[in-house]
Amino acid sequence: MLVMKFGGTSVGSAERMKDVLSIVEKAKSNHKGAAPLVVLSAMSGVTNSLIKAGERAVARDLKSALAEVQSIRKKHDEAIDQALSSDAAAAQKVKQSLDPHFEELEIILKGVSYLGELSKRSVDAISGMGELLSSKVVAAIAEHEGTASVWVDARDVMITDDTFGKATPLTDDIEKMAGEKIAKASKDGKVVITQGFIGATEKGITTTLGRGGSDYSAAIFGAALKADEIQIWTDVDGMMTSDPRLVPEAEVISEVGFQEAAELAYFGAKVLHPLTIKPAIEQGIPVRILNTMRPDNPGTIIKADEDLDRSDADSRPICAIAAKKGITALFISSFKMLMAHGFLSKVFAIFDRHSTSIDLIATSEVSVSLTLDNTDQLDSIIRDLKELGDVRILTDVSIVSVVGRQFREQSGIAGEVFSALTNVNVIMISGGASDINLSFVVSNEDADKSIKQLHKHFFSAK
Ligand code: ADP
Ligand code: ASP
Ligand code: MG
Repeated sequence: MLVMKFGGTSVGSAERMKDVLSIVEKAKSNHKGAAPLVVLSAMSGVTNSLIKAGERAVARDLKSALAEVQSIRKKHDEAIDQALSSDAAAAQKVKQSLDPHFEELEIILKGVSYLGELSKRSVDAISGMGELLSSKVVAAIAEHEGTASVWVDARDVMITDDTFGKATPLTDDIEKMAGEKIAKASKDGKVVITQGFIGATEKGITTTLGRGGSDYSAAIFGAALKADEIQIWTDVDGMMTSDPRLVPEAEVISEVGFQEAAELAYFGAKVLHPLTIKPAIEQGIPVRILNTMRPDNPGTIIKADEDLDRSDADSRPICAIAAKKGITALFISSFKMLMAHGFLSKVFAIFDRHSTSIDLIATSEVSVSLTLDNTDQLDSIIRDLKELGDVRILTDVSIVSVVGRQFREQSGIAGEVFSALTNVNVIMISGGASDINLSFVVSNEDADKSIKQLHKHFFSAK
């Protein structure tokens, strides 16, 4: 069985939605066995628009919150009219099927506005609406075009904890529900159309997996269903040597190992949500990244290291360069810990107590520099760290990561990386922790410059 996830641009218009269905039909006829599971994102721009509506509502500007909803309605209505232009009655029926979602959205926004309160739980109820809308439209087009299909509410399958905004999927429950709600229909040859990004608690309260989380949904579904392959269909030709929006000459990487892909996704390659690879690794399911606009291109295959064909052009030591922006760096120094042991364990205990994970770390005898992505608990963390010594904070910096292969066995990689940089102030360096990643911290302004210089050095001249 295939799991096929289509991102926001891939369902961004009537034309694209039709393209999606022809890709799915083709995959269904080429792939023996159960019909594919199709996991959809919201139409491009809709999740941002929904979040904006919530922010307007809580700022007591209900009028502009509802105007935002109207523009979302218009976008979907236009797609429906265009896709079903030959059948006005069918178009009307689909539009009506969206009414309850828009009504619910308006009620929530009014509540948010009257109370002047926007909890994470409310944000999830609002922001998760886009996937329900887009998937209903695609399912209606599928029905109209005669594709045997069934629409499934992901919230009946993607059972999560109640960490609103970044919920954790509960895999045992999901496996059970996926068997009931998805596997049966798909074995009967029906394409199952569902939503990425959203889930629900055991009590049925809507949750989301975090921004960009539809990729993660696809991987979770894929693992639960023991899929043959998880396909991430997007708006670029695959995982590339850098973000093509920043580096137009970036090249597609035909094969990537699970670990490298995970590092790249974690350190900023937006093409894949950072958690996507985890369920795939656990079940050994390959992940393929493909372009909806150019479906015949081979894309990128991500699989276990031992299954990679290292003889091809991708065997060069540097695989890709990525950046993660908006990071916070902390510099802690404690001279009272000079020649005393236990400094690092005290520092780590503080982060543990505040459930905050550290990304990069560099240490010396009495100083530690580290970076954080999640700053929800920053004030309490700093208060506790100050008991140990001096704390300096730099907000809004970037991590630049060079990801590749067997760095420890090759001499000169670090030298090459840093000598390729001109007019870049390196704030912190972290290397050697893994064999495949060399990361450093720079200001946000220096991040793009660093990527361009490194890409030019490692890829252009060779
Ligand atoms: P989708 O809506 O399909 O999930 P995203 O916008 O989340 O798409 O991810 C695709 C985008 O990721 C691309 O348009 C590209 O600009 C960006 N991107 C960042 N880094 C990379 C990379 N290393 N390889 C490919 N794309 C990348
Ligand atoms: N629609 C959600 C977002 O924009 C999830 C996704 O597209 O992956 O974050
Ligand atoms: Mg995405």
